Amino acid sequence: MVLFLPAFTFASELPEYHLDVSFDIQNAKITGVARINARSKDITVNTGQLKILDVSIDKQRIPFDIRKGILKISGIDKGIVEIRYEGVFRDNNNVIGEKGISLTGLWYPQIEGLFRYRLKTTLPEGYEAVSEAEGIIKNTKNGSAEFIFDFPHLVDGISLVAAKRYKITKDTFNDIEIFAYFFHEDIEFAKKYIEYTKKYLRLYEGIIGKYPYKRFSVVENFLPTGLSMPTYTLLGQDVVNLPFIVETSLGHEILHQWFGDLVYADYEKGNWTEGLTTYLADHLYEEQKGRGWEYRKQALVDYESYVNEKNEFPVREFRGRVGFASRAIGYGKAAMIFHMLKKMTGEDIFYRSLRDFIKEKAFQKASWGDLRAILERNYGKDLQWFFRQWLDEKGLPELRFKNVKAVRKGSKFEVSFDIAQGEKAYVMDVPVTLHFGDIKRKESFRVDKKTNSFSMVVDREPEKIVMDEDYDIARQLSNKEFPPIIARLIGDEKIVAVSPIGKKELYSGVIEMLEERNAAHKEAGEIKDSDIKASSLVIMGNDNPLIERLYGKPETIDAGFSIIVRNNPWNQQKVAAIINGRTKEEIDTAFRKIFHYGKYSALAFDRGKNIYKRTDESGRGIAVNLFEQPMAVEVSALKTLNDVINSVSGKKIIYIGEHHDQFAHHNVQFQVIKGLYAKNKKVAIGMEMFQMPFQGILNGYIAGRISEKEFLKKSEYFKRWGFDYNLYKPILDFAREEKIPLVALNIRREIVAKVSKSGLDSLSEEEKKEMPRQMDFSDNEYRDRLTKVFKMHKNAKERNFDFFYQSQVLWDETMSMSIDEFLKKNPDYQIVVLAGSGHIQYGSGIPKRVFRRNGYDYAVVLNDADIEKTIGDYIIFPGTLEGVTAPKLMVSLREEKGRVVIEGFSENSVSEKAGLKAGDMILSIDSELIDSVEDVRIHLFYKKKGETVKVKALRKRFILGDVEIEFDVTL
Ligand SMILES: [Zn+2]
Repeated sequence: MVLFLPAFTFASELPEYHLDVSFDIQNAKITGVARINARSKDITVNTGQLKILDVSIDKQRIPFDIRKGILKISGIDKGIVEIRYEGVFRDNNNVIGEKGISLTGLWYPQIEGLFRYRLKTTLPEGYEAVSEAEGIIKNTKNGSAEFIFDFPHLVDGISLVAAKRYKITKDTFNDIEIFAYFFHEDIEFAKKYIEYTKKYLRLYEGIIGKYPYKRFSVVENFLPTGLSMPTYTLLGQDVVNLPFIVETSLGHEILHQWFGDLVYADYEKGNWTEGLTTYLADHLYEEQKGRGWEYRKQALVDYESYVNEKNEFPVREFRGRVGFASRAIGYGKAAMIFHMLKKMTGEDIFYRSLRDFIKEKAFQKASWGDLRAILERNYGKDLQWFFRQWLDEKGLPELRFKNVKAVRKGSKFEVSFDIAQGEKAYVMDVPVTLHFGDIKRKESFRVDKKTNSFSMVVDREPEKIVMDEDYDIARQLSNKEFPPIIARLIGDEKIVAVSPIGKKELYSGVIEMLEERNAAHKEAGEIKDSDIKASSLVIMGNDNPLIERLYGKPETIDAGFSIIVRNNPWNQQKVAAIINGRTKEEIDTAFRKIFHYGKYSALAFDRGKNIYKRTDESGRGIAVNLFEQPMAVEVSALKTLNDVINSVSGKKIIYIGEHHDQFAHHNVQFQVIKGLYAKNKKVAIGMEMFQMPFQGILNGYIAGRISEKEFLKKSEYFKRWGFDYNLYKPILDFAREEKIPLVALNIRREIVAKVSKSGLDSLSEEEKKEMPRQMDFSDNEYRDRLTKVFKMHKNAKERNFDFFYQSQVLWDETMSMSIDEFLKKNPDYQIVVLAGSGHIQYGSGIPKRVFRRNGYDYAVVLNDADIEKTIGDYIIFPGTLEGVTAPKLMVSLREEKGRVVIEGFSENSVSEKAGLKAGDMILSIDSELIDSVEDVRIHLFYKKKGETVKVKALRKRFILGDVEIEFDVTL
């Protein structure tokens, strides 16, 4: 092989690098001569995998020594260094082969710093070649083609791309020559790419100044690249037919012609080019469509999904993209930094500074510091604090509202609020918007401390206040703004994969892929609530019992493969993905693809092809409601209880809420039951007050097999429920008379108590059998309401909210299961459900859970509830109703070894008056033996006020010995 040298003479005072290469394509081999006019005494040459054949200075060969791919040459003075080398490239970012030549990595001896390059290459005839060039000279002779590339500017490296199959399409924009190098099979795309190229050149010449070169080429590559080099962009064949490439990526790469390919990144000091290019390309295109805020929100969603403590770094340390996390930092957060800069300085100063930056730093390496200096000069203010907090600090600031208050002030309203930050206090301008129906008022507030207080005075009653609803700040998202999406699963360091019950082999590929990502692997039966709380989950198989345990019933998508991501109900920072598939092949193929669909909450694939995708709704901005529109009722539309009975009579299930101690509420329940029974004899009554193991006792009582007294004793009514039985008696009497079935809805009280104290995990295997299989913990509004209830408890601090929440849901789910089971066995029945209002209002406790199970139509009737939207279907205001309650001994009792002992007396106690004393053991009342407190209550239930009972007690005496005494207590 003959090499023609030298092609150029060294003329300029600049450092020059002449490179002359030829190829043996069959053997993937390059042979080259580098001639370097370094203009320094010593140079360091990065040779990587290259084989260096010889090195000479001014044609004098010198001995050389290469260590770890580095060749050092010294004592050059003003001579010309010549390096002859060869290399074989078959993969990664350098490839020489039949499909073409793509050399974008280390393919020639590289020297740090900027050089003026002259590249000459010889290729077989029929090839076309591209490199950084203002002009390309092509000479064909003797079956080969020689290309000479002329790029008369300093640059820090060059590339070379060539292929036999290129067809070149040419066009112009002003005085710029535009070329499209596409493979013949893709030539149809060339025109579109050229049109878009012109559109982008016009856009950017308008914003940041003239395109810097004489030519621009769009070059298709057989390798999957997306690169921008001075004068051309290199796009992979795998993506050129995708619509978003011309819509976004092409514009992004064209903008790099200024940022990166004209003003070079000073990588040592941080790569600013991606953030700036993303901001003025990808982001700008969305902004032009009015969706800038959505783009910025997505950037923050990506950041929070992919970036964690382990992979987080300050923006200044970004060099290049190596994965999702570095992309979220170097592209996403950095773009947000430019957005904040533009907001602060104003558009004029921002764009003027960018034009100055390009002019002053063309063909040079530039840093964040250079950008800052030019912005400071134009803005006239110091910006060091800004660049320091956003470039040198890791992470994003955390913002929230505190002490939001809206008060009347004369004829106006004053809204006052604190903006609180997390650990680190940033200095920034936080936009706050007040909403008045369709009208908004937005203002910016400068914060600089952990808490800053502000106020706004407005003419009208504001409905809500929202912080940063347009995502103008790079900040952490609140839970409500953060949808459950696949990215959060991909970005989580802690994942537990939960095996399906059957067909385990279908998911073996998924488990392997997850284990490569350090996921733990568990069976559904062995996973504890603490595991769930600490991790994101991949739940395999729609029949996986964990789905019912967390969400009640799975949403299913009928497809070859589906994934549905939901919030982890035990930890709002984590998610759970439910995956399901038909065959191992479908599952393996589709699961590998989900990594490209990070922003979605649900996906479905058939034979590897995406057929469905969805992102769940999430909040916009950090919002607090102020004044809501007051509720009103139309008086002429008021109904009577009878109207309500008529309108609910067609429903399968009628829920009637109560405050347990209100006779009036129970009377409403009774009226409704009687009214419904008059229309339909197939009515049943479901009661919270009775627990499932006692269903047989209820049946016996209704059937007339046992007396009321036996019923009260055997159903353990006083032990397990305890409210005065007079409250419920009319309803139960009516049920017994008319043989209306009673359904014991509740779970055993002991189980709820245990869960409330130590959580579901604390239940024994036996106890777990009493739990319903379906448990839905995902109703966040219910959770929020229960949080408020929980905080009102006296000893909330000592107790665990998760356990409290578990016990409430266990209670609700058991009752809804009992209702559902009754209706499954008795499908022709209608059921009236009596329960505390808390289990019924907003449908959260029982009604929606029953609906999830069977889909039956229902009505929610509440007593004395607040009038609020969605609280129920009807609210009854029954007034007060006095009722006679059972008399009391006016003592406090405790049970001790099967004996009932008096602990103390209430004020003016009839028992104390009769002579009983604390410590006395009650043996019998009216000769009926007393074994328990409920025996006392059952006995007294049948007494009236003013009657006298004979209480026999055992009194312990220290010296005289125990004695039995009988007392007459007048109730
Ligand atoms: Zn880029």
